[in-house]
Amino acid sequence: MEYRKVGKWGLKISELGFGTWLTFGPQLDVDRSKEIIREAFKNGINFFDTAEAYQGGMAEYILSQALKEFKREDLVVSTKIFWGGSGPNDLGLSRKHLIEGTENSLKRLQMKYVDLVYCHRPDPSVPMEEVVLAMDYIVRSGMALYWGTSEWSAQELEEAHRVCKEWKCVEPIVEQPQYNMLKRERVEKEYLPIYEKYGMGLTTFSPLASGFLTGKYNNGIPKGSRLDLFPDLKKRFEEQGKLSGALVEKVEKLGKVAKDLDIKLSQLAISWVLKNQHVSSVLLGVSNMDQFKENLSVIKSEKKLTEDVMKKIEEIIG
Ligand code: NDP
Repeated sequence: MEYRKVGKWGLKISELGFGTWLTFGPQLDVDRSKEIIREAFKNGINFFDTAEAYQGGMAEYILSQALKEFKREDLVVSTKIFWGGSGPNDLGLSRKHLIEGTENSLKRLQMKYVDLVYCHRPDPSVPMEEVVLAMDYIVRSGMALYWGTSEWSAQELEEAHRVCKEWKCVEPIVEQPQYNMLKRERVEKEYLPIYEKYGMGLTTFSPLASGFLTGKYNNGIPKGSRLDLFPDLKKRFEEQGKLSGALVEKVEKLGKVAKDLDIKLSQLAISWVLKNQHVSSVLLGVSNMDQFKENLSVIKSEKKLTEDVMKKIEEIIG
């Protein structure tokens, strides 16, 4: 396993990270989560990602149980704050919710601190000064070692850094965007000045576009799959036209490229994300051990993505 720096900063995380969205709780109970996390750790994964929103806090609790057997210094744990509940102050990036949300996450995680805490989305209803000063407090008080953002625009990141400079606050060091063969614009274009100016790293999510880039949805929705289990997500996919026509054709063509290389499409898709050197870690999501082992062996397939193969992929995905 390779460890990459988070942008220009000192923190090193495994190039494959482990995520808990939708899986910890509904698909993986404490015992099965423990087994997979042991396998992850054994294979060099040191980076584990969760959020207060995941399964109403259940994912954080299960993660706490699974990580108990490891030394804290060997782990990099991140959580994210935004969707904390249904009360008027449980949502968004007010100082009140950021601080209380982080405290509550730490209780569920049974940890004194997280390594990284993210603002899970931007919140235009709150002044940037309030957000930045609250994150600065969270870091200076020792609840988190670093802070970051998730799915913020380059403009919002510029504004956050401007406020940090003006108020002499701790800067965000990392963004967590979606990045995969079907979603590229932000990471490959919009953020270019951000890497350059501020040295921010990326921990990218949904490398398989929720499983779509395994080819499992090419002929409908398999029983027990993510889109079968989570109808809201299925609706979103349908609205984005992902389950029909041109996109499925692209996935089929990518499947052929993978077959020619004698690897799985999932491995091709994850290796492709790793090729981007702005990516510090690719967050994997898995609902069982077989998937995990298949995705983990990407480390061996990475070399197969030569320049010629990358060109072929580019022609398909455009
Ligand atoms: P993926 O796009 O890789 O989707 C993972 C899902 O795809 C699995 O749960 C599984 O679903 C299916 N899958 C994975 N591997 C295989 C395989 N080899 N064969 C067949 N099916 C497979 O990643 P996620 O969307 O889960 O994102 C990864 C992590 O990123 C999350 O856990 C979370 O920590 C983070 N994240 C952050 C977000 C943010 O807003 N900051 C948003 C989303 C995720 P199934 O078996 O159920 O079909």
